[in-house]
Amino acid sequence: MNQSNNYLNLMRISDKSIREVLLRADILSVVGSYVHLKPVGRNYVALCPFHKEKTPSFTISPQKQLFHCFGCKAGGTVVDFVMKIENFSFPEAIEHLAKLFGIKLEYEGKPSSEQDEELEKLYEYSLIASRYFTDKLFNSNEGQNALRYLKNRGIHESTIKNFGLGYALSAWDGFVSFVQSNNYDIEFFEKLGLVIRKENGEYYDRFRGRIIFPIYSTSGRVIAFGGRIIIEDDEQPKYLNSPESRIYIKGKTLFGLFQTKDEIRKNQSAILVEGYMDFLSLYQNGIKNVVASAGTALTMDQIFILSRTAPNLYLIFDGDEAGQKAAIRSIELLLQTDVNFKIVALPENEDPDSFIKKYGLDEFRHSIESGKNYIDYIYSLAEKHNALSDSQSKLKVVDSVIEFTARVKDPIRRELLAREVASKFKLTDSSVLQKLDRVVKNYNRIEQRQQELNREVELRNTEKIKYQELSPAERGILKLTCEVEHIYLEPIFANIDETDFVNPLAGEIFKELKNHYLDLPAGEKIDTLLIMNKLESEELKSLFADALTEKYKVSDGWEEVQEITISDNSIEKTLTDYIKNLKDLSLTKKIDDLYQKVATTFDLDEANRILQEVDKLIKERRFYLENFEVKLIH
Ligand SMILES: [Zn+2]
Repeated sequence: MNQSNNYLNLMRISDKSIREVLLRADILSVVGSYVHLKPVGRNYVALCPFHKEKTPSFTISPQKQLFHCFGCKAGGTVVDFVMKIENFSFPEAIEHLAKLFGIKLEYEGKPSSEQDEELEKLYEYSLIASRYFTDKLFNSNEGQNALRYLKNRGIHESTIKNFGLGYALSAWDGFVSFVQSNNYDIEFFEKLGLVIRKENGEYYDRFRGRIIFPIYSTSGRVIAFGGRIIIEDDEQPKYLNSPESRIYIKGKTLFGLFQTKDEIRKNQSAILVEGYMDFLSLYQNGIKNVVASAGTALTMDQIFILSRTAPNLYLIFDGDEAGQKAAIRSIELLLQTDVNFKIVALPENEDPDSFIKKYGLDEFRHSIESGKNYIDYIYSLAEKHNALSDSQSKLKVVDSVIEFTARVKDPIRRELLAREVASKFKLTDSSVLQKLDRVVKNYNRIEQRQQELNREVELRNTEKIKYQELSPAERGILKLTCEVEHIYLEPIFANIDETDFVNPLAGEIFKELKNHYLDLPAGEKIDTLLIMNKLESEELKSLFADALTEKYKVSDGWEEVQEITISDNSIEKTLTDYIKNLKDLSLTKKIDDLYQKVATTFDLDEANRILQEVDKLIKERRFYLENFEVKLIH
């Protein structure tokens, strides 16, 4: 694992290497491996992988090597894309792309900020802990017992090694004394939750006498641990997990996804199980499109991460009551999304592991294929509990199925499901639809209230709102600045500065462009990718990508709109128009602001001074409107 070594040395990727990745990692081929691209004019469009949509607003410009979504506003370079879709950090994304395109990276110095340093330290210490646990599994007396236990449960040695399983000694200070004798900074292990501090300042081990399952991020770095006890004991929970930390958010992590995401993508479906052992058992039996929600009940974030990887999901639950409860909770979440899902209920007292051992792999595959939709699942559950025999309890069951169905957002899908409910429970369509309608209305009321509350919060945050839209002139100037030859840049920067933008973010981007221009050798064009890489916030990146990407309307066929086309002989004219337009807007606004200031000033001198200023701005505005023209001497 080359990658982790770089982090151990706390090295930074050199700017030259970052530049090379930006130049050589082709955005089209990278994005194309995640979504289906369709060519439109000079660009490509696709259904956005970052938000749910029915018509494509996700746009790639191969010329500019940028992506932008007109729906959710995600945008940036190929590096930003990889960071977003794989949940990678910046260096992880660069390293991933370098590997894909065979680029050798150079490293230098130390990470830039203290923040980064702590993060890298946490990753590094997780890896150290993981190696410690593995060592204890294979090289200690207690570990031999654990190894025997794993082998008795049918886990192959190759699986143990592939997934880096380990063992935590049963002593209270096994790990603590390892940390102390190696002079590691114990505070980082406390932040990771591996040691716990007592009131007297001493530490003890969180994991004791447990088999350790390292939990990996999607990029393959150890971020947390799960521990299973081997000697059953009523005092101790069977499973124990790391607490959350800066590098581990439970609800956004899926056990095994790093190892199985390619299989899941290939299969277009994921099988979700509850436990580590279930996961390992399926995996080594050749069912590799599997993940485990280990440590939490299924969350919306986890569903979203999975749906980005594959559209179909099979959920396997144990046959016991806890399994049924988990299934019901998951149904409620999943119906609010577009994910296609089936529930696979195993017989009572069976989990995937025991099921395969008893009935074999073919039978297991068969039970996955015959997974039920939620209506059939709830029906069979009710049947089993004898809840369909009298009308009173049957009504309760139907009510809850209707409540679930009301969660479905798409009205047509909802109606189709309602008809299915009616036929399953032998009711008329109209009675089910009527009831469903009532529940939906109720949900909508609650949702509307929620939205109103959200809007109030948003209104209070007025600054944010200003950031959302670019005027055509602002968009045009940013775009032209990035596209024209060097000789046309001078008139742009001589006439416009960042205060001419009503949108303050656009002003910030323009300032970055200007700084870049000042260092630019004669004859060179603006380097858009370099600018994109310099912009720090996601809002800035998104706005910049928005300005540079043409928008397509996709109603009647693929129609191109809002394209700014520049033919060579009209560049001067286009530039003139945009500068005029932008100056007109910005000067008018500046003049209005000053008039307002005069109106509220009691100081006569001050008022006079402001009016002189206004006069100057009015003259300037007149100049731009009447006499300004970009004219280069060729
Ligand atoms: Zn989007």
